[in-house]
Amino acid sequence: MNNRGSLIVVSGFSGAGKGTLMKNLVERSSRYALSVSMTTREPRPGEVDGVSYFFVSQEEFDRTAQEDGFLEHASYVGHSYGTPKAWVLEQMKKGRDVILEIDAQGARQIKRIMPDAVLIFVVTPNAECLLNRLKGRGTEHRDVIARRIRQAATEAEEIAGYDYLLVNDDLEQCTDDLEDIIRASHFDPHHNTELVENLKKELHEILQRSGDFL
Ligand code: 5GP
Repeated sequence: MNNRGSLIVVSGFSGAGKGTLMKNLVERSSRYALSVSMTTREPRPGEVDGVSYFFVSQEEFDRTAQEDGFLEHASYVGHSYGTPKAWVLEQMKKGRDVILEIDAQGARQIKRIMPDAVLIFVVTPNAECLLNRLKGRGTEHRDVIARRIRQAATEAEEIAGYDYLLVNDDLEQCTDDLEDIIRASHFDPHHNTELVENLKKELHEILQRSGDFL
């Protein structure tokens, strides 16, 4: 089997608890590596450069894009976001499963260039629950909450393009389910193309020699 790690894309509604889910996952094992994206947006209070994001100028972002430094990149509400290519590929080569927490545009680009990437969409059990969670944060104004719900309605249209849907009701259960999906991804034939190609080649070689012993 292929020892390379999998590429796991996680998208989902703002308020569905993706951040907590990711934190819970990486705490379970060092085999999971959470990619840190580059962005041109300003840091929010509490965000740390190099941990939440690499906060860069538009010039630096554009230069990285020109130098083919991104696996994918996209614009989101007026800002640029991109996944650093070298780091992700290096971690996968080391056998770590790399998690990208990116939007649907990015997810589509990833699937195009890496068909064995696994796309997962995280939702709340129902819309009421999403509303309550957004309200419960206590930090958001009514118009911000309305914008997030509107955005969730748009994003819900993208769900069919994903490989898996995860309902984040109970955090531990949801993390278990996520680990199951990641583990199963190692058995995808597209993740093991080298093994499949070798098997085919060896079978043909045996057939060519078959006169000797079959
Ligand atoms: P925020 O600014 O709230 O942290 O993120 C805004 C959106 O950008 C979220 O949907 C987030 O998942 C997405 N995002 C973060 N990093 C990347 C990235 O590297 N590429 C893409 N395509 N989207 C990203």
